[in-house]
Amino acid sequence: MENKLFVYNTISRTKEAFEPINPPLVGMYVCGPTVYGDAHLGHARPAITFDLVFRYLQHLGYKVRYVRNITDVGHLENDADEGEDKIAKKARLEQLEPMEVVQYFTDRYHINMNQLNVLSPSIEPRASGHIIEQIEIVKKIIEKGYAYETNGSVYFDVVKYDSSHHYGKLSGRILEDLLSNTRALDGQDEKRNAADFALWKKAEPEHIMRWPSPWSDGFPGWHMECSAMSCKYLGEHFDIHGGGMDLLFPHHESEIAQSNIANDKEPCKYWLHNNMITINGQKMGKSLGNFITLNEFFAGSHSSLEKAFSPMTIRFFMLQTHYRSTLDFSNEALIASEKGLKRLMLAMEILDKLKPSEVSTTDISQLSNKCYEAMNDDFNSPQVLANLFDTVRFINGVNDNDETITADDLQKLKVIYTTFVIDLLGLRNETNTDQIEIIDSLMTMILNTRNLAKINRDFAVSDKIRADLNKIGIAVKDNKDGSTWSFGI
Ligand code: ZN
Repeated sequence: MENKLFVYNTISRTKEAFEPINPPLVGMYVCGPTVYGDAHLGHARPAITFDLVFRYLQHLGYKVRYVRNITDVGHLENDADEGEDKIAKKARLEQLEPMEVVQYFTDRYHINMNQLNVLSPSIEPRASGHIIEQIEIVKKIIEKGYAYETNGSVYFDVVKYDSSHHYGKLSGRILEDLLSNTRALDGQDEKRNAADFALWKKAEPEHIMRWPSPWSDGFPGWHMECSAMSCKYLGEHFDIHGGGMDLLFPHHESEIAQSNIANDKEPCKYWLHNNMITINGQKMGKSLGNFITLNEFFAGSHSSLEKAFSPMTIRFFMLQTHYRSTLDFSNEALIASEKGLKRLMLAMEILDKLKPSEVSTTDISQLSNKCYEAMNDDFNSPQVLANLFDTVRFINGVNDNDETITADDLQKLKVIYTTFVIDLLGLRNETNTDQIEIIDSLMTMILNTRNLAKINRDFAVSDKIRADLNKIGIAVKDNKDGSTWSFGI
């Protein structure tokens, strides 16, 4: 394929041609969940975004080592190194061991990821399994003079770092602004400057998650785990680092600072970030009461949901928007996605049954190129879907004998649909064969009843049946032998 893949690099703020450091290998690190609660939409979006990237890079022939971590220690309630460890807090409230909390929510996260058809990463390391590696990096940064110890805790000296590097180059922040916007140090503070961040924290006596270190019994700072695990599995300078935009600052910014000092290198070549999710135009947040977990979506059990939405509806909905755009969830938008997905899946089923003719009444040769062009343009999944939908009408037309297709074109079309819908977008048909048979029998019953009404000249009833079916997305077509039905109006 002459067409090259371009990716938007957050740090250069431009689309760049994708050229791996050591092809055909590609190293990709994505920040995974902090496992102290059920996964919600904010977890689903990066998982699905980087699943698309993972699938496409493999499709292009790259050998991708995809590392997505589990944060099970060090993520405090407040990004500014304060508050309780999120896992430890949950453990205290539930009277469990912290690792029981971690196991429970990691298992549930995996179930959700399977439901969303998100492929497992190549390696899924846990922060608590890499304490030694994290301590080694802290030591290096101290040796190089960019970290200091206070009362058993170690902090990164952001002001010193910024005098030779730019702390804020990823997120577009400037240190002076950071210092003036952060609350003043109160004299009790262990940090020299408010912008400094923790590399190691001394554990208070009641803190149960603790490990020995040269400085104190304690635990690593949150940003340290990703530096340690990406470096261990992908090397000091790897291809792609991804995550949600909420991690740009301070998490990824601090990872860059840690790598530049510990390894004299940028951690990665390309930074990719998915945008955020809003619900009915509002930010998601526990305090706003719109924090809907994936399990609540699948069961329809949250008060702001009109009904349950299947995992594939959620996946399809996310892929309908480019990963760098904000995504607004609403019942109406999800219902529209549910219909769109049904239409697409039905078109694939019809495609399998079509009979070829001598000529094609449309030119499908460009479809494949258009889909690859869209993927090569920074993984433009909504454009891929738009291209595929352009052909759905044609597929239905062939089925209704209004259009024709040659055997050769039919084969090409099947390959394009399988490649893009199933392999790359990772969508699957959720309706099983038993359900399809039941729907078929029910529809036969309904259409027979409608026919009977027509024979009895009860047109009010026959029209109402058709209108009600239309409302739920089923089209009815009358012909001389009776009537046929299909999904999609
Ligand atoms: Zn991370």
